[in-house]
Amino acid sequence: MNRITKKGKKDSQDVKYGLNCNCGKDHFPSYEDIAWMIFNCMNNEDVLYPPDDYIKGGRMLHDYFNETMIYRKLPDRKKYKL
Ligand SMILES: [Zn+2]
Repeated sequence: MNRITKKGKKDSQDVKYGLNCNCGKDHFPSYEDIAWMIFNCMNNEDVLYPPDDYIKGGRMLHDYFNETMIYRKLPDRKKYKL
């Protein structure tokens, strides 16, 4: 699966972001799809790594996405072992 971009139709600089899937199609998830993925992945991390004083569980993903949104780039992979 590869990350892809496609020219959007709303503006001359509009860009759509998606994935070239192993099924052979390009998929462009909606914001709701992305939000659904985020909170479900956080819940799953809480199940896999129940939060306590030392383990962040879903909070680790929360921090990862927060950093992504604040700096508008992908965080250093070494910082988050996801
Ligand atoms: Zn597919």
